[in-house]
Amino acid sequence: MILENIVVSDARDGTAARYDVEINDGRVQNIVRPSRSSLDTPTQLLLPPLCHPHIHLDKAYILTCNNGVNSRHPDYSDLCPKSGSFAEALTNTSQAKARYTQEDLYLRGSQLLATSYAQGVTSMRAFVELDHVTGLLPLTTAIRLKEDFAHLLEVQICAFAQDPIFSTAYGDPNRSIIDEALTEFAPFIGALGTTPYVEMSREKSLSNIEWAITKALAHHVHLDFHLDYTLEIPSTLPSQKPLTYSVVESLLKHNWAQIADKSKTIALGHCTQLSMFDDTESKALAELVIASRLPIHFVGLPTSDIFMMGRPSSIESRSHNRPRGTMHVPSMIKELGLSACLGVNNVGNAFTPFGTGDPLQLASWAVGIYQVGTVEDAELLYDCISSRARKAIGLEDGAQYDPVHEGQDLRGYLLLRNESVAEFPGHHGRSKMTVAQRQRLSLKDIVWDPPEVKLRAVLR
Ligand SMILES: [Zn+2]
Repeated sequence: MILENIVVSDARDGTAARYDVEINDGRVQNIVRPSRSSLDTPTQLLLPPLCHPHIHLDKAYILTCNNGVNSRHPDYSDLCPKSGSFAEALTNTSQAKARYTQEDLYLRGSQLLATSYAQGVTSMRAFVELDHVTGLLPLTTAIRLKEDFAHLLEVQICAFAQDPIFSTAYGDPNRSIIDEALTEFAPFIGALGTTPYVEMSREKSLSNIEWAITKALAHHVHLDFHLDYTLEIPSTLPSQKPLTYSVVESLLKHNWAQIADKSKTIALGHCTQLSMFDDTESKALAELVIASRLPIHFVGLPTSDIFMMGRPSSIESRSHNRPRGTMHVPSMIKELGLSACLGVNNVGNAFTPFGTGDPLQLASWAVGIYQVGTVEDAELLYDCISSRARKAIGLEDGAQYDPVHEGQDLRGYLLLRNESVAEFPGHHGRSKMTVAQRQRLSLKDIVWDPPEVKLRAVLR
């Protein structure tokens, strides 16, 4: 197979050249100057594939699947948000979970995996909620999906407790279901996730963190917390500091760095409260994380965060003033030296009703959300949805931006096509009119103006 007219940028001097790349059995066999005929074809780009470091599998498309039109599947149409509040999202999603069936979970899950693959995603951490309502059904369905889609993408299953595991009447049963999942389905589970902030007291939140760390170490899985999901100004009292501190302390106490497999990472999602730190506190936390030498990765979920956080309070008279608080991922990487990346979190449910789940669209919105508009920023944002995201969930980062070289394995790379012209109905007796299309030649073109899904393909 020959990939014609590939634009190859040389990171060393910023120049770009075009080549025809001959591939044999997935590997580059020959790189030649493009032929005259190939120069007439639209240019193409080869890029590292996309990764979802944090996406909820069982909750996808609850509000947009309309699967209820088929009487075989549950109807969720009465669960559309009325207020759009976080409390309502939790309540409505609990009701939705009570209606889950295996066929419905499989259908919505396969729609998410197929859509992600078409968008250029080849790996993901898929969160499946396990509690006294769902039982193990989301997990057993996710295992079927993982196997059925294994030839297209790597689905790393995260056994996830969205609900309290130490508070309320259901804390104990919720915890035992996760325990059972970790024991019975060990070969299929890649990560353990919990939500310490949903517990009823700080003491219970700390128990949640301790328990999750102990279990992750015992079962040799990655660890993932939904953490500090608030925009309250953080207290400086040691007993009231953001739970991110408690996670670091607890990991150190449990000797994570010495005991855990070197490949196992700790991902911290949301952490919106960290955006309320002043610069001195941000720096102090970053220094603590870096000095700990723990493999901690912050996963920014900005589209979910800006939808959920900063709602006006009933006593606040400035209801149009809404702080769009989310971790500032580019600054955390560039200024604080932390590991961080970006995730979509939810698609088509009460936590994030909008969006297609496309990581490239997320990177594009991130330009505005983070107010980062340089070419280098666009390149960093692409990293945040590809190689940095893979690292955060503990996957090898094989794909590089290196100029294409002979022998290089291109399987799993993302190929982006350009179009030469778009056609429209003609006038003045002509059957059609054509408009030459802009050519995307670099990462900034792709992040600022993501290509349609039909122009993307994963090389196999
Ligand atoms: Zn989440």
